[in-house]
Amino acid sequence: MTRCDLLIRGGTVFAPETKAFTREDVAVRDGTVVLRGKNLPEGGAASVLDASGCLVSPGLIDLHCHIYPVFPYVREDSLRTVNVEEHALRAGVTTAVDAGTCGWRNFGDFKENVIDRTKLRVLAFLDMAAKGMAYTDSEQAVADINPRIAAAVAQEWSGCIVGFKSAHYWPRHEDAAHPAFASIDGALEAAELTGKRVMVDSIPVVPERSYPAILRRLRPGDIHTHVFAQQFPLLDEQKKVMPYLWEERERGVHFDVGHGSGSFWFWQAVPCFAQGFWPDTISTDLHHQNVTGPVFDLLNVASKFLAMGMPLAEVLYRVTRAPALAIDHPELGVIREGACADLAVLRLREGRFGYIDCGGGRLSGEGKLECVAAVRAGEVLYDPEARSAPDWQDAPAPYWTPPGQLRSWELRTEKEETP
Ligand SMILES: [Zn+2]
Repeated sequence: MTRCDLLIRGGTVFAPETKAFTREDVAVRDGTVVLRGKNLPEGGAASVLDASGCLVSPGLIDLHCHIYPVFPYVREDSLRTVNVEEHALRAGVTTAVDAGTCGWRNFGDFKENVIDRTKLRVLAFLDMAAKGMAYTDSEQAVADINPRIAAAVAQEWSGCIVGFKSAHYWPRHEDAAHPAFASIDGALEAAELTGKRVMVDSIPVVPERSYPAILRRLRPGDIHTHVFAQQFPLLDEQKKVMPYLWEERERGVHFDVGHGSGSFWFWQAVPCFAQGFWPDTISTDLHHQNVTGPVFDLLNVASKFLAMGMPLAEVLYRVTRAPALAIDHPELGVIREGACADLAVLRLREGRFGYIDCGGGRLSGEGKLECVAAVRAGEVLYDPEARSAPDWQDAPAPYWTPPGQLRSWELRTEKEETP
């Protein structure tokens, strides 16, 4: 085998395209997967990550989270976000899609100070409210909904803006200044101008903006997030999935979990799941107020579906390949030669585990997914079991540096530059 930077050895590789599991090793060079195969030799590898007993999945993609730091908090009702590196990697997430924390007024700051400064891949839906989720009132400012400017901003940063978010536009008393569909229609117009998707978080508070009417407004490929929130009429009196949901799915509307603090109830999800109305993607809506529950992280949300009875391959598909396709990034969510080496090494714990929903209800079921290691662009960024590290007696010296002196990564860089 030709030389490689990292060999992930002994794991069971999940291929989302076929939903198959295969005992294979994965070789990585220059941030890219260069080879998959059985029993690849270790000799040519600069570093080996022992994945024995684990699953090797494409790095997870969280389609809906909130990471742009609105800090210091503008107001009491500003959305408190999370530090993406602290919370994503430990759940195997290598691509975080910020769902509309920023609008066109503040996206440049997000790009410069977060997206360009993290090793994670951060993508975003641009919010139709000009300042994004700065505070509730600012999200109702119809005059600031400007599809043409939003489209121009999305084109300026087309590498990281994947679509437009309509969220939290909830005028309870519709008037001439607050048309029921002002935000959704703005997002649709911006999406038409750019060829991008729309993600909608819209509570049906006015009669003409019922949930079926919201879905009917969306185009095939547009995303409704928070599908299992309690405000949506998903089930009839006999707990049967409403016919319009099957019709909208057939038409191509995409249903995303977007768990959040108040958007996931087992009394909605379990009957839907039992009747085959499964979400297209599983995402967190992670922010400061749900990171200690009921969301915790993407693997906890994914494990809720395992516990409901969704097969492992279907769960993993919905946090890897399905979100990649939903945002028109088909190069992501795969492990194949030539693909970027974004990888998650996961452990499936067997046994019964309890999970909580937004109403404080418990569901117990089989299985729990945990992250053992996360690799982004070929670099091991999360490895709490030291599976890629040499034994301390064999570690190259100096492997510990007193505080205040050069950190280990700086020493490594120096060493590499020495001929
Ligand atoms: Zn959200």
